[in-house]
Amino acid sequence: MSEAAIEIRDLVKQYAAPGNAPGKRALKGVSFDVPEGKIFGLLGPNGAGKSTLINIMAGLVTKTSGTVRIWGHDIDRDHRNAKRTIGIVPQEIVFDPFFTPFEVLENQAGMYGITRHLRRSEELLRAVHLTDKRDAYARTLSGGMKRRLLIAKAMVHSPPILVLDEPTAGVDVELRRQLWELVGELNAEGVTVVLTTHYLEEAEQLCERIAIINHGELVTNKPTRELVNMAREKIVRITVDKDLAGPPMEASFIKAEVVDPRTLEITYHRDSSSAGQVLALVQQHGYAIEDVTTREPDLEDVFVQLTMQAAAA
Ligand code: ADP
Ligand code: MG
Repeated sequence: MSEAAIEIRDLVKQYAAPGNAPGKRALKGVSFDVPEGKIFGLLGPNGAGKSTLINIMAGLVTKTSGTVRIWGHDIDRDHRNAKRTIGIVPQEIVFDPFFTPFEVLENQAGMYGITRHLRRSEELLRAVHLTDKRDAYARTLSGGMKRRLLIAKAMVHSPPILVLDEPTAGVDVELRRQLWELVGELNAEGVTVVLTTHYLEEAEQLCERIAIINHGELVTNKPTRELVNMAREKIVRITVDKDLAGPPMEASFIKAEVVDPRTLEITYHRDSSSAGQVLALVQQHGYAIEDVTTREPDLEDVFVQLTMQAAAA
């Protein structure tokens, strides 16, 4: 097996439209690898093509062209092994409301042909903190419990790869925390995790590596740290000794704002200026500097820059 848990090459998806009109080209030739053992984030605005990509891996959507290898198995030529090595939690929650969590897991195990004595339903219920709901109808579970049950369901056949499509969309803060904890535990046990999300802060915290797609094209694919460091705009907040007459504007500032009578926030390009130069320019306007703080750019800054560049290109 190669080092990559998932290998995607030149993946294209052209949806069919009614009649003869060409449908939406949701993936326009996407290539990237998901390295083994990591938590990998797939980010992109709504409609970028994230679910299309995941549904192709899940066998729910047929690709137009390109190749996908899961744990070394080509999804066309070795469909059975590809399916056996991946567990997918789709974006939409779908359950038969009249099954209990235990039955949901047992049915899924049956679908994978796992014999009774090799099933791990009880263990999985414990892992997702649903043991006390073992025999409740699925329809009586809260949204968060259903999400957790979906994760257990995706892990029934013990796949080395778990893929979660927007697991925390519309989920409250406490539950989100629980889900991330669960994802972290699975990853610590060696499971490679791929997740899509539009909560950038979480992707930044959880994922070691992030790929961004926009309009069906790969915009970037980098270690999270490196990606965050790509932010070229920096912000410095400066407190001065007297009330500001107005924002001191300089050609090298992207933006200067008076945030309270003695505090300024200046945005500058870190490629062309340094914080020291910014401070010197402010002093030239006749202010003495009393305090300085810088805000580190975050993933959100980079995301906006990259997706705007792609839109302009
Ligand atoms: P994301 O998950 O990133 O929000 P999707 O993969 O769901 O994006 O959608 C990508 C694009 O493909 C969107 O423009 C969407 O409208 C379109 N699309 C998704 N599913 C279908 C479908 N079944 N038929 C036609 N177009 C679709
Ligand atoms: Mg989606």
